[in-house]
Amino acid sequence: MTFEIDLERYSRQIDVFGVKGQERLLNSSVLVVGAGGLGSAVIQYLAAAGVGRLGIVDGDKVEKSNLQRQTIHAGNIGVNKAESACAFVEKLNPDVTVDVYPYALTPKNAEKILKPYDVVVGCLDNFKTRFLINDASFLLKKPFVHAAVYAFEGELSTFFGKPCYRCYLPKAPQPPRPPIIGATPGVFGCMQAMEVIKLLTGHGETTKGKIVRFDLSTMEFFEINLSERKDCSVCSGRLKGIYEENYEGDCSIVRFE
Ligand SMILES: [Zn+2]
Repeated sequence: MTFEIDLERYSRQIDVFGVKGQERLLNSSVLVVGAGGLGSAVIQYLAAAGVGRLGIVDGDKVEKSNLQRQTIHAGNIGVNKAESACAFVEKLNPDVTVDVYPYALTPKNAEKILKPYDVVVGCLDNFKTRFLINDASFLLKKPFVHAAVYAFEGELSTFFGKPCYRCYLPKAPQPPRPPIIGATPGVFGCMQAMEVIKLLTGHGETTKGKIVRFDLSTMEFFEINLSERKDCSVCSGRLKGIYEENYEGDCSIVRFE
């Protein structure tokens, strides 16, 4: 694609990764699944950085209780979150084209929705969709940038090939609705945006191969090295497609092909 780069808009980051890096961002496409607390930060910073195409998937409507952390939806109570996020991006940066998917990601539509994008970012509060994104990203050979938050804590990792998210967690626990301090998904969403920018520009190192955890109440930092789980249903290549049965109950893989 050839186009004139808005050097004024991007000057501070061109100082870091050059016009080439900026061109890469403008020619890239990123799918953000979930426009909640994590998604608000991811969408905001990827749009501001000039990622040329952003897909936003969310079937929920904005509620008052969301605004404590989902800052891009200001003034939009009752509006679909993907639509609301799109309106925010259009105001922030006209260079960005937004694809709005105002419904949930499901085993039926996941592969089709993920396929056109360079990177997939999971900004979710449920294990079912996280497993679904992991499996579909692995099959489609796309990087999957993951974060999850709980109160003051959170974790971050980028999965790309092996090891995958199911090597870390083969099946879903059944946690209660997590308590959340609004700034926690803000911090982790920004870190996800940073992972995407590193993947797309080739500058810096991602968290591939490890899970990074922060407890923001004490500022303690932990790192877990991940290795490929030999019996991982996904990494082993045994999973051949996306099937609804694998996203029910504890999300164990029960159907391979
Ligand atoms: Zn795996």
